[in-house]
Amino acid sequence: WKSLTGLHIDYLLSHSHFPTVIPVVILLLSTVNLLDSKASQGELGWISYPSHGWEEISGVDEHYTPIRTFQVCNVMEYSQNNWLRTNWIPRQSAKKIYVELKFTLRDCNSIPLVLGTCKETFNLLYLETDEDQGIRFREHQFSKIDTIAADESFTQMDLGDRILKLNTEVREVGPVTKKGFYLAFQDVGACVALVSVRVYFKMCPFIVRNLASFPDTVPMDSHSLVEVKGLCVNHSKEQEPPRMYCSTEGEWLVPIGKCLCNVGYEERGSSCQGKTTIVHFYSFQHQFPSLLDVWSGWRKPYNSSVICIFKEFVGWVRGVTIVFSGMVSNTSNTWFDAIPFAPFQKDRASRNSISLSWLEPERPNGIILDYEVKYYEKQEQETSYTILRSKGCNVTLSGLKADTSYLLQIRARTAAGYGASSRSFEFETSPDSFSISSESSQVVLIAISTAAAIILLTVLLYIVIGRFCGYRRSKHPDEKRLHFGNGHLRLPGIRTYVDPHTYEDPSQAVHEFAKELDASCIAIDKVVGAGEFGEVCSGRLRLPSKKENCVAIKTLKAGYTDKQRRDFLSEASIMGQFDHPNIIRLEGVVTRSKPVMIVTEYMENGSLDSFLRKHDAQFTGIQLVGMLRGIASGMKYLSDMGYVHRDLAARNILVNSNLVCKVSDFGLSRVLEDDPEAAYTTRGGKIPIRWTAPEAISYRKFTSASDAWSYGIVLWEVMSYGERPYWEMSNQDVIKAVDEGYRLPPPMDCPATLYQLMLDCWQKERNNRPKFEQIVSILDKLIRNPGSLKITANTSPRPANLLLDRSSSEVVQSLGTMGDWLDNVRTLPCKEAFSGVSYSSCDTLPKTSAEDLKKVGVTIVGPQKNIVSSIKALESHSKNAPVPV
Ligand code: AMP
Repeated sequence: WKSLTGLHIDYLLSHSHFPTVIPVVILLLSTVNLLDSKASQGELGWISYPSHGWEEISGVDEHYTPIRTFQVCNVMEYSQNNWLRTNWIPRQSAKKIYVELKFTLRDCNSIPLVLGTCKETFNLLYLETDEDQGIRFREHQFSKIDTIAADESFTQMDLGDRILKLNTEVREVGPVTKKGFYLAFQDVGACVALVSVRVYFKMCPFIVRNLASFPDTVPMDSHSLVEVKGLCVNHSKEQEPPRMYCSTEGEWLVPIGKCLCNVGYEERGSSCQGKTTIVHFYSFQHQFPSLLDVWSGWRKPYNSSVICIFKEFVGWVRGVTIVFSGMVSNTSNTWFDAIPFAPFQKDRASRNSISLSWLEPERPNGIILDYEVKYYEKQEQETSYTILRSKGCNVTLSGLKADTSYLLQIRARTAAGYGASSRSFEFETSPDSFSISSESSQVVLIAISTAAAIILLTVLLYIVIGRFCGYRRSKHPDEKRLHFGNGHLRLPGIRTYVDPHTYEDPSQAVHEFAKELDASCIAIDKVVGAGEFGEVCSGRLRLPSKKENCVAIKTLKAGYTDKQRRDFLSEASIMGQFDHPNIIRLEGVVTRSKPVMIVTEYMENGSLDSFLRKHDAQFTGIQLVGMLRGIASGMKYLSDMGYVHRDLAARNILVNSNLVCKVSDFGLSRVLEDDPEAAYTTRGGKIPIRWTAPEAISYRKFTSASDAWSYGIVLWEVMSYGERPYWEMSNQDVIKAVDEGYRLPPPMDCPATLYQLMLDCWQKERNNRPKFEQIVSILDKLIRNPGSLKITANTSPRPANLLLDRSSSEVVQSLGTMGDWLDNVRTLPCKEAFSGVSYSSCDTLPKTSAEDLKKVGVTIVGPQKNIVSSIKALESHSKNAPVPV
């Protein structure tokens, strides 16, 4: 049997059936190896106990590089207990280590006569010590990391077919605290070959971001982030203290703050370099000025060392290069305008004359004695010209031909001679019959202004009258309700939400929307939670001639004030107006006896955030999308009713025993008052910062679009199984980071389509966020096509900065090849394009041609044409309506 494993190892290692080791670059950059058995070409010298157990043998890897491997295959003998212990591995700065094992394992069923003794697993163990213990080895000191089983074991037949199955398993160990550790492999009777062992830890590598350098940083062993302060690079200083967070995965998150280059330096790449400035000088025809003269009139730039180099001397100086900080700028082939004449203005033109003026050059090299004005008919092409001199900055040219184009150049003269000529300006005299003077243009101007004023006045009057009429109309009681909406246009006949605060007596609202229950119908079983106003209990409700129902009972604790009672019952007044399977259902209220109670349907699994945390990684993608779909559907209902939730978060979603999610926690100001997540903003209001859209934080613009932002956060919470959005970043940092355009990264294994949806919900421009109706339809499509959930956002290339601000199209493009992309398009919002409903994420579509489609295998003319024409339609549609439609 041993020779058998030996055979297969030789084959395995000299053959490249299994994937060659090409670690992802990002991984290489952010991991540090503590041990790599493949790196050692001599004997590894690990301890094998007993000596006839694990055996060290040589093999070659897929590149024919010799490597050392271990195997054991005592499957014919009972009671095997073979140990293999590595050498002592110094921990370095690791807080948590990763062990990557590559191995093959023989399928016991394929070994005749050994059934009963053969095993298909082995154990991985470790021991932490502060020093190398040499060959001293005691089994009982080791702690088990895991039992390792093969995903795929190989059989005799596989060997015959030369099909080989290499397993790769990675296990995490941490926290590790002592100076070093050993790993051990315990075999209890398997036929196994350990091909390679790699031990590493993750690290956020040195990086320069926003002109601040961040050192190699070892992540925490738990789920917390390490906050790291950046150091400004040379020649820069802090504008705002630079900081970043190092995640447990060895990735840098959320750059905040930055450094700016000092004066005289500019940002190049990730450093500040001395500025190179080229100063342009005039030509001097007659005199050769000293360097000092050249300098006069110019301010020596602050903080710079100056060397002047004469580039050329052809009778007079044509140009000078100033060199800062030892960097020579290249001025070859650079000829400079002597004096910039700008702006140039045509004051008046008539049939035979024209008046012109210009501004003095900004930096003459002396006092300007006069200007030379040279002009000629354009047609004559400078064969004959006229020269005038002017002491001031204006001139009138007379004796010109009517309706003729002239070209004109100006140059200035100082004691040093003439500067270079300005560029040519073209002007035209008026035709015989018509001339525009500035007076006539003024008349035109006055006429236009008067007309504009009249139009403006009319519009103002229209608005004022319209408002007045609108006000009169809104006095009608039925229409008053439309004002509590979110700006949605609602059709007559569709029920809208009524704000209980509009009732003079709020208890009237309670009785309009909630049924009064008799306390004797309610049996309280136990306390299940704590609310702001009292305990939340589970119990049963038995109404006459109805079957008993499980219910949740919220109670108002004794000693309440009138306001507390009103606020407590306002939740029932709101909830009682809703009737939807994804909104928590109100059974009724008890107000006529004490304690005052609100009775709702019972949700067995409590609030969604804690439920997900309790069941980390236990649901399928479809189950999660199903929950999300429910929440979106409830929110669609609320937004159709004109109700803005303002506090949509996983903690305010309840889950029943069938995993149905329902939106809860209704109220007005009180919702935010009693949410422990809500924090006071600078404007005084209390807001759950991490869940709230920027416009709602900064100017309290709460709409269904701000609810859509919160929905994106709930989506993130669900996909990360109840992780806290933005982890332990402070509220201020969250506000700043979001404002600077950063967004939460995709949760682990999050389907790309769902991450795309999150990013869309987090569009800064609130009109670009998807409506709940669109969210429901996107999720429905995902549910119908579960295969689409397989492409995860984490597998697509990600920039180092994870809290990113990528446009939708970039994300779509980052999904992989065009083929992958199209696969995704089938389920992405873009798919809407093919069914005639467009959506804002489709930026990339218009670039798709029939050729592109052919390349990815859409070769049948029909579908190809349909797709391309849908794309064209989308393109023209999106030109007219850039917002989602
Ligand atoms: P609330 O005051 O609405 O935030 O409720 C406080 C806690 O009571 C929640 O976090 C839930 O754990 C629990 N709870 C509230 N309503 C229900 C319900 N209808 N069914 C089950 N548990 C509930």
